[in-house]
Amino acid sequence: MQTVATTSDSADTVDLGPASGLSCRECGERFALGPIFACEACFGPLEVVYDLPGGDPEELRKRIESGPDNIWRYAPLLPVPADVADKPNLNPGFTRLVRADNLAREFGVTGGLWVKDDSGNPTHSFKDRVVAQAIEAARAFGFTTLSCSSTGNLAGAVGAAAARAGFRSCVFIPHDLEQGKVVMAAVYGGELVGIEGNYDDVNRFCSELIGDPAGEGWGFVNVNLRPYYAEGSKTLAYEICEQLGWRLPDQIVIPIASGSQLTKIDKGLQELVGLGLVEDRPYRIFGAQAEGCSPVSAAFKAGHDVVRPQKPDTIAKSLAIGNPADGPYVLDICRRTGGAVEDVTDEEIVDAIKLLARTEGIFTETAGGTTLGVAKKLIEAGVIDPALTTVVVNTGDGLKTLDAVAPTTGMSAVIRPNLDSFREAGLV
Ligand SMILES: *Cc1c(COP(=O)(O)O)cnc(C)c1O
Ligand SMILES: [Zn+2]
Repeated sequence: MQTVATTSDSADTVDLGPASGLSCRECGERFALGPIFACEACFGPLEVVYDLPGGDPEELRKRIESGPDNIWRYAPLLPVPADVADKPNLNPGFTRLVRADNLAREFGVTGGLWVKDDSGNPTHSFKDRVVAQAIEAARAFGFTTLSCSSTGNLAGAVGAAAARAGFRSCVFIPHDLEQGKVVMAAVYGGELVGIEGNYDDVNRFCSELIGDPAGEGWGFVNVNLRPYYAEGSKTLAYEICEQLGWRLPDQIVIPIASGSQLTKIDKGLQELVGLGLVEDRPYRIFGAQAEGCSPVSAAFKAGHDVVRPQKPDTIAKSLAIGNPADGPYVLDICRRTGGAVEDVTDEEIVDAIKLLARTEGIFTETAGGTTLGVAKKLIEAGVIDPALTTVVVNTGDGLKTLDAVAPTTGMSAVIRPNLDSFREAGLV
């Protein structure tokens, strides 16, 4: 299998809708659509470029609004065939945008605070969005086995999507993940392999496997299909704007693992502006990390352009990537938009999980605790403007990381089944 692009690839038989090719994010070199991810000229990462629909924005908006209640309403803006909604997939997306008034009061936010709640996806994390794109690319390129290196949620999303779409799957995770993530990755019946090491070791192993005959014919959603996979995060931007009434948010807080999601939300917002679907106005993007894995935050604060790798040690395991591939692009975006990257401690993550549950009835995983914790910290520091619209992205479900809150959460009392016993418990 090819791992480096060549200009002679033929895209004649590949139908990925409006996707017209790949382009190097470093040198701009163009390549035909194919299962490639690194530039032949400079080894820079590749990304999908499009012939997006022109014409009347009002017509496009109507077309989107009359589409299905999932990410395929945005199919004209994604690297997928036009009939994608008819193929077997999990139909993720169009998750709820919750107006968080209780939380806003708690924070003193007056401009409107929203939680984009991606725990409502089929496997309860935002990863269903990206896997849905990768599956279409895998179909187009003739792969029969789907794989990935995962911090947990991706493994479950690949397992489920592969089961439904009729692919074989074999996914790789660090061996010491939370039980909720392991069970959810295994239950769909594919192969699940624990690697003795952290995510960065898992990722290195997968890169080796791609170059080996043992990995022949395998589509690694976040490696050789990464350019397509990554585009799925644009749908978060589309949905947030549509759900705000076709308007850009002023401020948006996004967690960072590899940084892919953050960079593609920015790309999605810019596309909507370019297509005339939303009015062009400034927006600021903020990135969130856990202190125990904060390579991008450290670089941001130090004013560096390069991200120095770290060895992760945090309860936010789904964000525990010590050497984030998109780190430098995240720095660019947060600086260009006037945002910031910040980190919080494990204790602040737990507090934020419980705060969101207590104020809005939303139970998030440790990644969401990280994002909300950072939002709180930046509001208190006056970096996020309380008078402007703010959207916090919740990327996963608290049921997968019960261990984080179990030690400090429990029953108010255990009583015998009679009224006297209840009165004695002091709850009335
Ligand atoms: C994977 C993941 C992220 C971030 O992913 P990126 O690699 O930065 O795109 C955020 N939250 C959760 C819950 C995740 O599983
Ligand atoms: Zn290049």
